[in-house]
Amino acid sequence: MQEINIKELKNSYRIKSKEYRKSLDSEHKKELDLKIINNLLNLDEVKKSTVILSYISTQIEIETDCFLTKMLMQNKCVAVPKCVENTRNMNFYMINSLSDTFKQSFGVREPNKNCPKLDDFENSVCIIPALMFDKEGFRLGYGKGYYDRFLSDYKGLKIGLCYQNCLVDKLPHGFFDVAVDIIVTENEVIYI
Ligand code: ADP
Ligand code: MG
Repeated sequence: MQEINIKELKNSYRIKSKEYRKSLDSEHKKELDLKIINNLLNLDEVKKSTVILSYISTQIEIETDCFLTKMLMQNKCVAVPKCVENTRNMNFYMINSLSDTFKQSFGVREPNKNCPKLDDFENSVCIIPALMFDKEGFRLGYGKGYYDRFLSDYKGLKIGLCYQNCLVDKLPHGFFDVAVDIIVTENEVIYI
């Protein structure tokens, strides 16, 4: 498939999934988020890992606050992403609590300046947000490729979170798209 077609197709899927997320009322969203996080917490791979890399959710994403707090309470090393200015790269920084983060001007919470950067990803899992996933583990993000760049070099386990409604049979994917190993929805856990 040509690069241009992939881009257009991805954009049409982005519009659909954003519409779905906007259509969720807040009580229903809370219910779905809770089920997804419970399924995530029940995974042996999460229980066994000692290092958790995870996004911090915005209002329209699957909420990770309670997950992050639980991981910290279990004394795991928890690191959250921060974009590198003027690039499409991101790095992960360790936090001791959610109060080690602050809301950036663009509305995303990022780790404070004094949080140490994490470079050793041994025994880690990475929890990945998405607009959609397909059943082969391919991911649709916002279209900037931040996760594809980070994951190109990441050797740990990749776990994607999404609503069942945002899981499709096949998404268009390009050369740089990195698939996840496990997808967790409110209804099921899929091992790719
Ligand atoms: P997303 O993954 O956020 O949905 P895309 O997959 O559409 O976004 O990627 C956005 C752009 O970033 C694409 O043009 C893609 O080719 C580019 N890109 C992704 N990963 C890399 C990489 N590792 N190196 C160079 N360019 C990349
Ligand atoms: Mg991609």
